[in-house]
Amino acid sequence: MAPKQAVISVVGSLNVDLVTRTSRVPVGGETLTSESFDIGFGGKGANQAVACARLSRTGRQALNAEPSDVEVRMVGAVGEDQFAPDFLKSLQKDGLNTSKVQVLSGKKTGVAVIIVESQSGENRIMFCPGANYDVPVVDLVDSDSSVALFQLELPMNVVLHNMNVAREKGVETIINPAPAVPLLEEAYQGLGHLIVNETEAAILSGISSPINWDEVAAVFVSRGVKNIIITLGGEGVYYQTDKLHSQSKGGKLIPARKVQVVDTTAAGDTFVGAYSVAVARWKSSFSGADFDLDSAITFANRAASMTVQKRGAQSSIPWVDEVPASS
Ligand code: ADP
Repeated sequence: MAPKQAVISVVGSLNVDLVTRTSRVPVGGETLTSESFDIGFGGKGANQAVACARLSRTGRQALNAEPSDVEVRMVGAVGEDQFAPDFLKSLQKDGLNTSKVQVLSGKKTGVAVIIVESQSGENRIMFCPGANYDVPVVDLVDSDSSVALFQLELPMNVVLHNMNVAREKGVETIINPAPAVPLLEEAYQGLGHLIVNETEAAILSGISSPINWDEVAAVFVSRGVKNIIITLGGEGVYYQTDKLHSQSKGGKLIPARKVQVVDTTAAGDTFVGAYSVAVARWKSSFSGADFDLDSAITFANRAASMTVQKRGAQSSIPWVDEVPASS
């Protein structure tokens, strides 16, 4: 069968970050003049969708609105407010298809009000999910998708329903369960790819201070997950598969690139986006070959290594031509 265009449906959150920097946090009843104010577009869903788009096309391709071999479809909701048009435009500029982002009348776009104390760098965040929590429990993943990518910033019943929809339609499922809350058993059954950091791995596996990742991965394999990817920050990435496990083989560690870290915000989202692009290309190629986790993780590590060298969230996610071809 000839390869078709790969499609990644990212079913997730869209939030506006309202960021104020201040020398110190005001006390109750006090008004302070802040150092700066910025509006940024984020939410785990949108960040990972942007990462998928940028890591499947060059900056020039996006600038000239040239087609890419990977379509990235954002699926979620914003409110009918002043943020929505700019948010959608910003995603479109990155090359995303936003036709599946619902604009809900009478609702507000999700907002995170963030106060950053500049000296300590400490954040105080008030999060209002808004339209994200009004995404209806209906089928949101179309059967032309190669991959459906989920996080946990939408209502759990929306996520679980659509993971089932994706599986029934033969769409490859990937979940990055952040923020980490224990998942029902049904979420793991037949799950293609589980991507967790160390904290999420501990919470979801129920092993509170993991010392042996093979033990943690075995828990997820027994629940029905095919590929388990545990990101370990600067240490690299551990992975295990159901196949390796069934042959009584341990998992594998792929080291991270050694770089000067400036800010790790969005590193995980970049990793997930890059990895998802690799899965989508594999799935749409119909090659019959096994998925090459080593290459996918190496590419994702290289992409995330660029993000940690820059300050910011979406602004630090690289285009594919900015990712080094070797370590
Ligand atoms: P999260 O940000 O979700 O907690 P991690 O901290 O594990 O996830 O980081 C995700 C990925 O970002 C890592 O797997 C790695 O590829 C990259 N990364 C994070 N920290 C570093 C670092 N200090 N040096 C190089 N790469 C890093």
